Amino acid sequence: MAGPVFDAILGHEVIINRIGHSLANGRPGHAWLFHGPQGVGKRTTALALIQSLFCPQPVRLPNGGVSGCGDCSSCRKCLTGNHPDLQWLELQEKKVRISVEQVRELAHFIAFSPLESPWKAAIVDDAAQMNAAAANALLKTLEEPPPGSMLILITHHPGGLLPTIGSRCQKERFFPLSEEQILTILERLKVGKTLEERQEAARLAVGSVGHAVQLCVKGAIENRRRFFRDLDALPDGGLAQLVALAEEWGKAELFSMVPQLLETWFRERIRASVLSGEAHRLDTERWLEAALRTGQLARDAQVVNLNPRLTLETIFIRLARMQGAAF
Ligand SMILES: [Zn+2]
Repeated sequence: MAGPVFDAILGHEVIINRIGHSLANGRPGHAWLFHGPQGVGKRTTALALIQSLFCPQPVRLPNGGVSGCGDCSSCRKCLTGNHPDLQWLELQEKKVRISVEQVRELAHFIAFSPLESPWKAAIVDDAAQMNAAAANALLKTLEEPPPGSMLILITHHPGGLLPTIGSRCQKERFFPLSEEQILTILERLKVGKTLEERQEAARLAVGSVGHAVQLCVKGAIENRRRFFRDLDALPDGGLAQLVALAEEWGKAELFSMVPQLLETWFRERIRASVLSGEAHRLDTERWLEAALRTGQLARDAQVVNLNPRLTLETIFIRLARMQGAAF
């Protein structure tokens, strides 16, 4: 027995309450935008919403909302990705953007009558990865949603979406999870070898359970320490050291971790400066912009096979100069 799908989600009570009540009223929105940091439960909540929408025997929750039962054939098919009335749209492997063809196929899918449930549904993750043509095609579907259809867009970068898309969706903003919540989830998932390792991962993950899981993977915590130490040393180390570090982190087994490591390094720098009241000196806006640019560059490098060492030299020089390096 899996039990009600919303019961399995930790945190996000306000959002889940709102969703559960909109389902209980029988008037859920036809388009939703779930935004907030990566790895905090947006996908899980989107899936639970669709399970609850499709479930033929939904459960009434103590708060008055409605939840999918989690046990019926419909709930299980959604979970395993085998429900004929639910489609996920994601970035295809080796592609940089979600294409207009993918969005057209999705529009076609939700326009046809459902096969097993009263609704047709689609989840787009990450919606900010749509190219301009794809975004415009999606906008058409949002402007004239087929009756009985539901679309959920997920992104950690809502600024990358057309404002006209956001304005047609019911927006739900997800916040980082607490360390205790992350620790509980890690224990449920049985990842990490020891309690100490799980605790350190929960602390370092800054609210993202997805990141905490990655940290529990062998050696990840040590690699993270090294990366942070190397990046902090960039401005004082000179060009020769920078080139050596680019060579080291450009090795295949390390380079695949760089986008995520860069993201957390930036996040911690920005957070530390805000906490210490230095935000006015650090120019937070400029750092956020640099975080997005370098993260995207590192990800693109993996997709289109740019030379890892040269990509990292570019990124490291930019970061060293942002921290006051003279070269
Ligand atoms: Zn069910």
